[in-house]
Amino acid sequence: ATPTAIMVGTGLGAKRGVLFKSASALETSARIDTVVMDKTGTLTKGEPAVTDVITAGIDEGRLLALVGAVERESEHPLARAIVGHAKSAGAPVLTATDFRNVPGHGATATVDGRRVLVGNRRLMAAEGVELGDLAARRDELAASGRTSVVVAVDGHAVGVVALADAVRDTSAAAVAAMHESGIQVVMLTGDNEATARRIADQLGIDTVIAEVLPGDKAAKVAELQAQGRRVAMVGDGVNDAPALARADIGIAIGAGTDVAIETADIVLMRSDPLDVPVALRIGKGTLRKMR
Ligand code: ADP
Ligand code: MG
Repeated sequence: ATPTAIMVGTGLGAKRGVLFKSASALETSARIDTVVMDKTGTLTKGEPAVTDVITAGIDEGRLLALVGAVERESEHPLARAIVGHAKSAGAPVLTATDFRNVPGHGATATVDGRRVLVGNRRLMAAEGVELGDLAARRDELAASGRTSVVVAVDGHAVGVVALADAVRDTSAAAVAAMHESGIQVVMLTGDNEATARRIADQLGIDTVIAEVLPGDKAAKVAELQAQGRRVAMVGDGVNDAPALARADIGIAIGAGTDVAIETADIVLMRSDPLDVPVALRIGKGTLRKMR
């Protein structure tokens, strides 16, 4: 593109808080045919809140005290929500030792002499914990779009904590605008398949890649590229940075982590998913002007 077209494109973006970090970011945007969007914090607000606590053979206050103790040691957004809930429910504050974070799975620690596990099905499977009657409840909650984590004490599943994270107001409109421009939209998430599918349905997204480990997001982007797609990745988290770097264009949500913002080619200062199609359209306009 000509320097003038680049200046115009960059200026148009800046007015909307869409920051193109380079001329090539603007030019490559014009050629994107696939947009991969992280779920948590990108399509959703990234502010999960506890909606349900299901117990099996344990007092709810005791369950929340044990889980709260483990999650107090974690920086995961789900952990913060669970700690907040335990506190407002007035659960006793216990101390955790031997805390271990298991990326993409959950966390474990010793509390009151008991080994407490908090996390997804995969963590429970890896630790040989059977869900028993809780499995059906967990599946129901997931099918309703909630993220549910299982709690196990000394190898026995004793509860499920479900959390909801509201979708951003403009996520569905952003997906529709991209579809109108012939762009395929893919949801990429570490969350459970059923939960992700339900939220994708609400937003009109047909392709879901779920239960992806934090370290594998970039490989999923590379697989799409190997199919000949030109991929923009949109994300907010530390987890997303390698995928943002791997994609033809990395787009960071302005409210996201510093690493994501530093790695991206484009930053959406307003954290508005609708600015994704806007950025791609500005790219196309810039390219047209060079012909
Ligand atoms: P996301 O892509 O949604 O950020 P992560 O890769 O961070 O997901 O986590 C994937 C899943 O692992 C979560 O949906 C949750 O089930 C489980 N998990 C991870 N960390 C924790 C934690 N601290 N407490 C409970 N569950 C967790
Ligand atoms: Mg995220």
